[in-house]
Amino acid sequence: MGIETLERDLVGCRVCPRLVTWREQAGHHKRVAYHDWEYWAKPVPGFGDPRARLLIVGLAPAAHGANRTGRMFTGDRSGDWLFRALHRTGFASQPEAVARGDGLVLAGAFVSAIVRCAPPDNKPIPAEKENCRGWLEAELDLLRDVEVIVPLGGMAYAQVLRILHGRQVSVPKPRPRFAHGLEVDLRPSGPMLIASYHPSQQNTFTGRLTEVMLDEVFERARALLDWP
Ligand code: SF4
Repeated sequence: MGIETLERDLVGCRVCPRLVTWREQAGHHKRVAYHDWEYWAKPVPGFGDPRARLLIVGLAPAAHGANRTGRMFTGDRSGDWLFRALHRTGFASQPEAVARGDGLVLAGAFVSAIVRCAPPDNKPIPAEKENCRGWLEAELDLLRDVEVIVPLGGMAYAQVLRILHGRQVSVPKPRPRFAHGLEVDLRPSGPMLIASYHPSQQNTFTGRLTEVMLDEVFERARALLDWP
């Protein structure tokens, strides 16, 4: 199975009834600013370079962001921060991400999430995270060149560690506590992890996460990968 086949299968997924309802309702009750948009309102596939060496894992699509545009982290404030940082650090062709087909190309990087449907209050419940786990696992199977993973936020960090542990990667016990900039070296059985705060407005508006802090994470990834 290739990435395209995976995407085709993913967009038809309706396993989580609460999230199916929520993602579709958001498409009917549009934000005024987006009244002329045809919302995607389906599971959102990962996006980026199939030969990626850097994998970025977020939490879930935003109801009026990726759930509207159909591309991960595209069309919301979190994505504005993320793609600007990826552009500054050489992984993205442009700083803007507004819609599928806007010309954005990722080089050496792939952006995904632990849950693919927009959840109410941006909070998936444990069963939904578990239901969706297989989609990220399938991407990991296909992204064979990944050497560095950047989970955005504590929930993504915990789920990535859980998944890697299940894939026979030697994960330290106890698991290192989530912190911004935390590095967990799982080599040689797995990748290098660099944890980051999620660029959500809760973090960026409060100054908990600054652009400099986010840049430092991707600069570190670039150094580890010896990325030009
Ligand atoms: Fe399917 Fe994941 Fe969406 Fe649940 S959250 S319906 S498992 S794609």
